[in-house]
Amino acid sequence: MVQGEPGGGNTMVCFILPAHLLIELAEAGNVDIRDTIPTLLASAALRTQRDTLTEAVQFLDLNAGQLRGPASEFKAVHDVQGGDERNLPGVMRRKEGDGANSDPAVNDAFDNADRTYDFYRDVLGRHSVDGNGLRLVSSVHFGRGFDNAFWDGTQMVYGDGSGKVFQPGALARDVSVVGHEITHGVVQYTAGLRYRQQSGALNESWADVFGSLVKQHALGQSADQADWLIGAGILGTQLQGVALRSMKDPGKAHQLDRQPAHMRSYVDLPDDGNPRNDNGGVHINSGIPNKAFHLTATRLGGNAWERAGKVWYDALATKLRVNSDFAEAAAATVASAQALFGADVANTVRSAWNDVGVS
Ligand SMILES: [Zn+2]
Repeated sequence: MVQGEPGGGNTMVCFILPAHLLIELAEAGNVDIRDTIPTLLASAALRTQRDTLTEAVQFLDLNAGQLRGPASEFKAVHDVQGGDERNLPGVMRRKEGDGANSDPAVNDAFDNADRTYDFYRDVLGRHSVDGNGLRLVSSVHFGRGFDNAFWDGTQMVYGDGSGKVFQPGALARDVSVVGHEITHGVVQYTAGLRYRQQSGALNESWADVFGSLVKQHALGQSADQADWLIGAGILGTQLQGVALRSMKDPGKAHQLDRQPAHMRSYVDLPDDGNPRNDNGGVHINSGIPNKAFHLTATRLGGNAWERAGKVWYDALATKLRVNSDFAEAAAATVASAQALFGADVANTVRSAWNDVGVS
């Protein structure tokens, strides 16, 4: 594990909906600008907290074994009751061993955290986000009609959705969204991919890969049967499309989707703190590694988590670093494929990256 660099560090509050999409929706008149301000303010307030937390986590990793929870599965869902980040995690509503709650949002967050935990344990042999039984804490009812979900460096947080950008209740209900957010925690405790430009797009892509795989595993779907969508059917009235992102068809998920599927369409944006620029295109250029994974998994066939997923996880856990770029990710996944499954699978992985313009 490498420590965050001075003045930079890893930025790990990872919102499912990037700020640039909110701004574009507001400019097109699709959402009231007044509705978007609370979301943008929450992003800004959390930015400072997340840098500090991530540096702390990376420091703790260097001092392994400190401040870790008991090695047993433990999940809890809290209710922020419309409050903001100062009120996190909120009132405890359901913990391990409790029966179903009367609030569907609580049960959705709990059950999808459970599916994600089971995937990492049963498929990848990983015990929670940190590999050592870290408590999986989720909070629901963040803000009022808040159109986002995020990992804040320590826990998952879900807004209710306004109906305009996301359907009410949809964020905690969608297992690919929940799996995506929890995977940001896994990335934080493994490669620590810095949340900017290509390393940030890899961070986003790995979260999409495992968000989709948690869903495929929960539904028992093969690579051919899977929809390869993040947030299928959760969009509100102002985003026209099938999902928030498509790993199969980057750029085709909704009317504002500008994800490239190939390096020739790479969107070169500065990491200048302007929310329009998406930390240097982390939610935009993630389409390229997403497509490389989709090609690998569908060419290998069968269940995507059995080979492609294990290769991508091994690369994350043992080879990728804070500043890895796309070329390093290609080399890392090829090396992991060779080590785990031999030359044929390694060649499939290499050709998939080549087909999206990465070599
Ligand atoms: Zn994300």
